[in-house]
Amino acid sequence: MRLVLMGPPGAGKGTQALVIAGVLGVPHVSTGDIFRANVSRGTPLGIEAKRYMDAGDYVPDGVTNAMVRDRLSQDDCRPGFLLDGYPRTVEQVSELDAMLRSDGLRLDAVVELEVDIDEVVGRLVKRAADQGRSDDSEAVIRRRLEVYGEQTAPLLAVYRDQGLLVAVDGLGKVDEVTGRILAALSIER
Ligand code: ADP
Repeated sequence: MRLVLMGPPGAGKGTQALVIAGVLGVPHVSTGDIFRANVSRGTPLGIEAKRYMDAGDYVPDGVTNAMVRDRLSQDDCRPGFLLDGYPRTVEQVSELDAMLRSDGLRLDAVVELEVDIDEVVGRLVKRAADQGRSDDSEAVIRRRLEVYGEQTAPLLAVYRDQGLLVAVDGLGKVDEVTGRILAALSIER
């Protein structure tokens, strides 16, 4: 299965993606995780990405697309993958489409985690306290939500028009949300 998980920062994408990828037996491909791994190793990609991440802005499409193309071309992604945090811009949508199409493939579904914005801000503030992520300060959190609304929320309509969008209520216990996602995709645990 080739899936995309979408939703605003703090919607719980990373948490759900890990579980769902585990159930499906496909790699969890998180662009945020790949960027953070590069930041902590101090690679050229990490040094470039950190400037944008710390401001709450998106890393430029050219950089992000090349990184995803490389990751999806690896053998473990052949049977399928779960993308978390990508695509996030209209240009990333067409790039992903082109990557898949050149191999005769397509997405099976795009899962949208629907959450209340106040709830999300609360979660992000708590994560800032627990994990100390450098992009989790309140000003940067607000900026990330704004960027999501401007650049990523419009993608939902694109995928809805393609008949790929599956909206799932993201509020509740982790396990409940997982159950809803699996049910919406007709996947048995
Ligand atoms: P969250 O979902 O909480 O915003 P992520 O871990 O998915 O966090 O992403 C953290 C940061 O990494 C983003 O704010 C952005 O700067 C960068 N990033 C991740 N994915 C992308 C992407 N697809 N395009 C551009 N930038 C990205």
